[in-house]
Amino acid sequence: MAQLEQIERELISESKIRSRVRELGQEISRDFDGETVILVGLLKGSVVFLADLAREITVPCHMDFMSVTSYGNDTESSGEVRFLKDLDEDINGKNVLIVEDIIDTGYTLREVVKVLSARNPKTLKICTLLNKASRRLVEIPVAYNGFDIPDAFVIGYGLDYAQRYRNLKYIGILKLIEK
Ligand code: 5GP
Repeated sequence: MAQLEQIERELISESKIRSRVRELGQEISRDFDGETVILVGLLKGSVVFLADLAREITVPCHMDFMSVTSYGNDTESSGEVRFLKDLDEDINGKNVLIVEDIIDTGYTLREVVKVLSARNPKTLKICTLLNKASRRLVEIPVAYNGFDIPDAFVIGYGLDYAQRYRNLKYIGILKLIEK
C-alpha cells in the first residue's frame, strides 16, 4: 500500500525555538562556568540543534558526534540499538553533554548513556530539544529540556521523515496517509 505524507501543522515556530535554544545555552553556560564541555551530538537529527545551541554557549566547548540507530519501522523505534560511529575524543575525566533532538521511548539514550558512562567522564548530562514524556518506557534523567511535546510524529529543525524535512526552520507534525 502506498503511503503519502503531509505536514499537518506547525507545532513550534522558528522564533520559539530560537528563544528557547538561547535560554538553554545560557543555563548550560551558567552550570559549566569555568569548565570545558564536550557537546556530543547524535547524528543526524541533533545536528541543527547542536549547531545553534553551541553558539549560545559561552564556556569553552568541543563538538563530537556519535551515530546510533534503533531498529524499527519508519515512525516507531524498537528496543535494539546499533552503534554506527563512535566518538573521536577520549571523554575520560571530561564534562560530556549529550545533545539529542528528541527523546521518545528512551531506549536510544539508555544505551548511549551506558556506553559513555563506562568511559568515566567527569560529568555526563543530557540536553534534548524535544521530549515526548508520555511515551517513555525507560527512565532517562534529562538535565536540559527544550519542549515537552505530545505523542505525534514530528519533523523539521534536524528531524526527518525518510531523510527529508531536516532543513525546515520550525517543528511540524507529520501526517501519514495510506493510499
Ligand atoms: P527513542 O529511542 O527515545 O524511542 O527514540 C529516539 C529516536 O527516535 C530519536 O533520536 C529520533 O531519531 C527518533 N524519533 C522519535 N520520535 C520521533 C519523531 O517524532 N520524529 C522523528 N523524526 N524522529 C523521532
